[in-house]
Amino acid sequence: YEKIDKVDVGKDELAEIGRTFNGMMEALETNYRKQEQFVSNASHELKTPLTVIESYAKLLLRRGFTNEKVATEALEAIVNESSRMNDLIVQMLELAKNKERTSLTIHKVDIAQLLENTLSQMQHAYNRPFELKRESRLYAYTDEQKLKQLLYILLDNARKYSDDKIIVTSAKLGHSISITIQDFGEGIPKDQLPHLFDRFYRVNKDRNRKTGGTGLGLAIAKELSERLQIEIKVESELGVGSSFTLLIPIQNDLSEEDNR
Ligand code: ADP
Repeated sequence: YEKIDKVDVGKDELAEIGRTFNGMMEALETNYRKQEQFVSNASHELKTPLTVIESYAKLLLRRGFTNEKVATEALEAIVNESSRMNDLIVQMLELAKNKERTSLTIHKVDIAQLLENTLSQMQHAYNRPFELKRESRLYAYTDEQKLKQLLYILLDNARKYSDDKIIVTSAKLGHSISITIQDFGEGIPKDQLPHLFDRFYRVNKDRNRKTGGTGLGLAIAKELSERLQIEIKVESELGVGSSFTLLIPIQNDLSEEDNR
């Protein structure tokens, strides 16, 4: 290569290069810290169920052969915690996959139909009422699989954190299609709303332990929504319920006829 001995740049340009360089280094450092934080949180989250499994396995060895009740309790705990570890790993891989920027498959998606199908699947799986109120013609260009995954996370949360019916409303709103998922469940304290989409964040870990969540669902939802350029809004009141709204942009080349 050719060695550069002398570069002809003025003082202002040099200062500009310096600023750009500093900006890049800061971004790299922030990224690195986030990564470090993720690895540390992930290790902690995986270690907790593993510790429970280990202690129950030891109990099983000590007393399980002579006491059927102890054996059942230990095995149940081991099965539950293994399944929790499995959920954690699947979701961590999901986050890593989205980071890799796997390609999007963009099609013209019939949103009304997609909601109909997804809700009917949820209804079957959980035997809970999901009420759908929608306009009949709602189309957008998006990745159907990824949008479905996003919807599934929000619907699954609504189901997990409430006992009553869940109402899903979809309509055209300006240059977007809005989908709102409303539950009448435990709600989220206002001061916790800004952290909701952080990785591993769970409102009141103890209270929510029974739902067996991982705190990664909404982090995945956030990444999916960024990739699909979908805005997510949350409104919630403690003890009253929550509603999560998706705003899917409608592209200009979709005619009025498509979204009446
Ligand atoms: P998790 O696997 O714990 O459900 P999420 O990332 O999906 O993780 O959600 C983070 C936290 O936000 C949950 O642990 C729960 O405390 C709170 N949350 C999410 N959705 C709702 C909802 N519909 N109602 C009440 N709390 C919710």
